[in-house]
Amino acid sequence: MSHYMAIRADQKIPVGFEKIPDAACRTCGETYLIVHDRIVPDLNDAADCKDGAEDAITGEHIDEKFRQHFDSYELD
Ligand SMILES: [Zn+2]
Repeated sequence: MSHYMAIRADQKIPVGFEKIPDAACRTCGETYLIVHDRIVPDLNDAADCKDGAEDAITGEHIDEKFRQHFDSYELD
């Protein structure tokens, strides 16, 4: 199970996860909550995690068949 996830803003935070700063698609502005597993010992990764999520979400627009972002993304 992944320790970090990006979750579309209309989705519920999974049990056992906590919220850290939001990420947004740089192309369409869709906002994701970044949540982490409570057992993660070092939250200094949070900023990297947000950047990684934004890269992954924004990168989907490169596909010409792209229509809508997924509800959630596992980040590690
Ligand atoms: Zn987008």
